[in-house]
Parts: sequence; C-alpha cells; structure tokens
Amino acid sequence: MTDSVSLPDLTADEQARIQAKAALFPPPSPVLADGRKDLVGLSREELIAELALLGEKPFRAKQLWHWIYHQGVTQFDEMSSISRPLREKLASSYVVGRPDITTQQTARDDTRKFLFRFRDGQEAETVYIPDRRKDRGAVCISSQVGCTLSCSFCHTGTQKLVRNLGAAEIVSQFMAARDSYGEWPSPTGDTPRLLSTIVMMGMGEPLYNYDEVAKAINIITDGEGIALSRRRITLSTSGVVPMMDRCGSELGVNLAISLHAVRDDLRDILVPLNRKYPIAELMAACRRYPAASNSRRITFEYVMLRGVNDSVADARALVRLIRDMPAKVNLIPFNPWPGSDYQTSTREAVEKFAAIIMDAGFASPIRMPRGREILAACGQLKTESQRVRRASFDPAGDDSPQDAV
Ligand code: SF4
Repeated sequence: MTDSVSLPDLTADEQARIQAKAALFPPPSPVLADGRKDLVGLSREELIAELALLGEKPFRAKQLWHWIYHQGVTQFDEMSSISRPLREKLASSYVVGRPDITTQQTARDDTRKFLFRFRDGQEAETVYIPDRRKDRGAVCISSQVGCTLSCSFCHTGTQKLVRNLGAAEIVSQFMAARDSYGEWPSPTGDTPRLLSTIVMMGMGEPLYNYDEVAKAINIITDGEGIALSRRRITLSTSGVVPMMDRCGSELGVNLAISLHAVRDDLRDILVPLNRKYPIAELMAACRRYPAASNSRRITFEYVMLRGVNDSVADARALVRLIRDMPAKVNLIPFNPWPGSDYQTSTREAVEKFAAIIMDAGFASPIRMPRGREILAACGQLKTESQRVRRASFDPAGDDSPQDAV
C-alpha cells in the first residue's frame, strides 16, 4: 500500500490533467443538423431543464424517463401517458436517438457483434456474449473510438484515438443491443434479463473518458429506467491509477484490471501505460478500491501469450501480487488478429498456470474465446474510423503511451 501523505494532492492534480486532456477529444453535440436535440444521454436534471423550456413541470421528466429508459420507446407518438399536444411539441424539438447499425454479425456460438455508426459518422463496436448455460449474458460496451494506449496484444490499440464517446453514445449502445433482442420494457424484480450485465471492456480506456462514462453509468443504473444494478457493471481499466480512486468512491461498480504481466519490464511492453503507473502503484490503488470486498472481487485480466507471460514463475509471481486482496483471475487465451506478433499459449501451459492460481485460493476461469470468427473476442475489436485532423489541435505526439491522455 502506498502511504505517501502527498498522494491525495498528486492524485487530484493528475485527475485534473487527465480530464483536461479528455476535453480535447469531445463527443459531438447532442443537437442534430435539423436543430432537434437528442434526449438520450441527458441526466434527469438536464431533462427537467429541457422540459422547463417548454413550460412543463418536472413530473413530465419522470414520465419521459420511464418511456425512454424503461419502455425503450423511440417515438413520442407511442408515449400514451403524455398528452397529444405535448407529444407533438416534443417531436418538433427532440429525438430519442439510437446509433445506426452498420453491421451486425452473429457467431456460431451466438456471440453477436454490432458495429454502430454515430451521428458524425464515427463507429464503435459492441458485443453481446450470451452465457452458455443460462438465459443471460454480458454486453461489452466501448467508451472511445480507438484508443491511446497501444497495448501490444490488442487490435483496438492499433487504431489511434479518434474521440471519446458521449454518455448518449455509451447508453445507446446498450439500448440498441437490447432493441435487437426485443428486451423492452426493462425486466424488473426477479424477471431474468437476457442482457444482464455490462462490461466496459470494449474499445477504449473508460477512465480516460471518465465524465461521460460516469454519466452513462448513472443513467443505466437509475431505478426508474434500465435499472441495472451497479453490481452488474464491471469497468475494466489498464491502470489509470489516479482515476481508479474516483471511480471507486463515485461509481461503486466492479473493477477489472488489464494486468497481463507481473513484471514491470514486461508490462511496460504489453501495456505501455505501465511506464506511467507501474505495477506497485496499480496494486496499491486496487487495495484502496472501496467496492472490493469478498463478495465483490477485483478481476485481473491476463491474456495468455505463448512463451511471453505464461510460465510457472509468472503464475507464482501473480499469486504473490494479489495474495492479500479479494481477487479472481480471468485467463484469456490470446485471440489472434491480422498482423499480430503473438501466439496463443498451449492448452497445457494455460492449465498449469490456472492450477497454480487456483491452488492459492483464487478463482481462475479460463475464458474460452467467443465470437472468434467475427473478430468479436477480447482484444480484437477495431473499426475503420479515422481521426480527422483539426486545424485547432495538432494531435502529433499525443498518442505516445507515456503521454496518453
Ligand atoms: S487493451 Fe484496452 S486500453 Fe489497451 S489498447 Fe486495447 S482497448 Fe486500449
């Protein structure tokens, strides 16, 4: 644990720096070319303010919230508890948006990958991974178009950061995935949900787009709308240490760490952000993470790369790293992508590695690749979106991992 008395101040400075840099990659305005505004992605307070502009009382915002996030309705016409004149007024000033679906592919194992196109033409991928044994599954959501971090085993990392996704775009990935399964209205109580968990593990580093991700999570967990429990949301980070504290205290979601190596010299290569926040600092931040308890373990993601990080010594070092915290280790056989240099560990190496972790008392499931043939598995997501060079900002140099957002 890091006990430095200066840590809180340093962390606050770092948080401010990270957020200032995130502002350089903003999502598009919620106002459409025709002047109408998208209501998806507005907080409750913002929705109340919009309705006040139309001379409407706050309870109308509650009604709209219900129609948008509980019923999943996109046409004002269908909002039967709202008077016709108000529905017409709403339709002339607002939309309930969804991204366009550029492609939708379903793999043999029923994993479904969506390529969504947003209003400015940028695209991001979302994947639904059904649980094999039960009627439920995880939606893997993207937080950025591209990524700054260049993790060397990750296909997304070969695509430069184009921009951050807005709260509307993050929430609407989940809503559009649900449209595709017809899962509206939002199941309540003990009714099973097909789209039952969210993992923020798609394209991008969510903690480099903290404000929009936090806003989206607050919308998704609102009890009068989609109402997904914070316990059913897992945010995965490569280790943006200063923002992990904030995520823990403000969002209360589960935490996953893209660890992938147990030595700084190797992690510097696999996850270059490690040069900025090395393993000791990362582990200290994990121990501080407030949502971590025996029932809410921190998940460590570990991609298995043949001859690189899959030795018995690596497994033992991993046990030493996590031994005093509630943790589980997801072992992910590497999913090859065009142009990648790494190879998948042998089955024997993966099993030996898993046994060492398990013998130390930690769950260590081996994640079987899902949706591999449609490039929907971990680390394979990538779109063709390119950053448009803007006159006011020269991005040169801003993608180096050390200086990443
Ligand atoms: S693993 Fe995550 S953080 Fe690293 S390059 Fe890929 S998308 Fe970015």
